[in-house]
Amino acid sequence: MALAGASACQGSIKWWSRHHRSHHRYTDTDFDPYGPQKGFWHSHILWMFIKEDTKKRGKVDMMDLNNDPVVMWQHRNFVPLMLFFGFVFPMLVPGLGWGDWKGGYFWSTITRLVFTHHATFCVNSLAHWLGEESFDDRHTPKDHFITAILTLGEGYHNFHHEFPSDFRNAIKFWQYDPTKWLIWLCSCVGLTYNLNKFPDNEVQKGRLQMQAKKIEDLKKKLNWGTPLEKLPELTFEDVQSQIRDNGKQLTIIDGVIYNVDGFAENHPGGRIFIKSAIGRDVTNAFNGGVYNHHNAARNLLSGFRYGVLKGEVPSANKSKDE
Ligand SMILES: [Zn+2]
Ligand SMILES: [Zn+2]
Repeated sequence: MALAGASACQGSIKWWSRHHRSHHRYTDTDFDPYGPQKGFWHSHILWMFIKEDTKKRGKVDMMDLNNDPVVMWQHRNFVPLMLFFGFVFPMLVPGLGWGDWKGGYFWSTITRLVFTHHATFCVNSLAHWLGEESFDDRHTPKDHFITAILTLGEGYHNFHHEFPSDFRNAIKFWQYDPTKWLIWLCSCVGLTYNLNKFPDNEVQKGRLQMQAKKIEDLKKKLNWGTPLEKLPELTFEDVQSQIRDNGKQLTIIDGVIYNVDGFAENHPGGRIFIKSAIGRDVTNAFNGGVYNHHNAARNLLSGFRYGVLKGEVPSANKSKDE
């Protein structure tokens, strides 16, 4: 794996992981080496051409890798390893194998490097731009299958940032994540072990919270009537005088006063019930005494809110079961 990693020409394991950990710890800040907040092209490739400001280098714990003999050996010998496994070896195989040195140079080396670099770059750019924020929307990482295809599975990036110790990016079996499959296959022969999965209960919590947020946003787009706390308070006598002096068509249901002026014609149950409700508390009739009204009726009613009832309604003015 260390030799294959060197062949990608993307820095040593230690160098790569240091940046990767910084990116996770300081996502979307100046300490994030890829800085998605600085624009798509900065996070894709331009960050590589800007000299790293060592003062703005996010601190991360590298103890585990610094104590790993393979990682340190690869780091110390990175340049010769990269030159051999990244350039020489891919040419040797087709060159010695079937005499195609040119193909080895153009396809196995140059074309492969261009593709694998842009695939990796997409994890920093596209995976922070395209798709859904399935588990958290505090930061830029997103989930999208196009990114997953381009990056061999890294496209479920919102999940990856939310649960970074989880070996998976995609958690559904039908989502494309060959990196996860490789790690899992390696575990079957002991090359990887102790694979970490976040408890499903926690994963579902995040998903549900984001769904609830979406529903809340949709809710805000609809008119749900004036909130009760913003309505004026009126007594039963105030209601009567509003009807008598101002010709209002007021009725009372569940302690709320509604102005049903002009609604009688449209009342599916007939105009007579509306006419007889004026000036009375028809809570009982509305909730089943005459007819147990549907959601649609209750929603419509909220648009007619006029005031909140203060005090009592004389029992003679209340609807009974009819
Ligand atoms: Zn990552
Ligand atoms: Zn990221």
